[in-house]
Amino acid sequence: MVESISCPALLADSVYYEPMEFTLDIPLICSVLSEERAQVRDEIRTVGAVGALQHSLKRQDERIAGAPDVGTLACRAGCSWCCYFTVDVRAAEVFGILEYVQHSLTPDEQAQIFLEVRENSKAISRLGETERVTRNVKCPFLVQGRCSIYVARPQSCRNYHATSAIGCQQSFEEPANLEIDPDFAAGVYQVGAAHVEAFSAAMADAGYDHDVYELNCALDAALSEAGARERFESKLQPFISLSGEEVAAEFDDLL
Ligand code: SF4
Repeated sequence: MVESISCPALLADSVYYEPMEFTLDIPLICSVLSEERAQVRDEIRTVGAVGALQHSLKRQDERIAGAPDVGTLACRAGCSWCCYFTVDVRAAEVFGILEYVQHSLTPDEQAQIFLEVRENSKAISRLGETERVTRNVKCPFLVQGRCSIYVARPQSCRNYHATSAIGCQQSFEEPANLEIDPDFAAGVYQVGAAHVEAFSAAMADAGYDHDVYELNCALDAALSEAGARERFESKLQPFISLSGEEVAAEFDDLL
């Protein structure tokens, strides 16, 4: 069963809000939602929330690699227009990224990244929502045109689905223009979005914080607030200085 819908895009978790027409593959979405949600729920019980995320990220990449239109993607190593757009994350991702950084990057690399995180966070926290999504901010993990945490990068970065870099470049060059509507791979978009929604639903099922935060602000809070990880693991609100957003699930009625 497929149906054509008009739906607000979740490109890069909030860069564009223009409605786009695409064909929705309901059986595919339902199977991703139910399988991933059940698997993450099981894994949370055995390896905890951050461990479950790490397993889920591998399956997210596999699902995207198996999407019928994956070959149409324009995303390539060294193309980094999107790494200046807003990145939204959940707390489990923040703690997973910090684990990766602390185990895999040198002390000097970590110091540089944490400095950028702090500066970005200070600048972003002064902005309203509209200003935030209409301004370019270099991701602290973008180093010499490459993602320095590629293995641990956020779910939203994995879900990029542009079929031409032209729209990404235009958005970079005109960050305040939310009318730009790049071509995208609908199959990749659907499996990626359903996968992330299933992960979030499983976190909610298990009682963990599953709100969405801006990447720099959440990392800064995790680094500067004592006990953030412990609060998260105790199923409390992890960040004292931040309020997250509960993002409406796009496929809520299929969950
Ligand atoms: S985490 Fe990596 S892929 Fe995502 S915006 Fe930053 S540099 Fe780009």
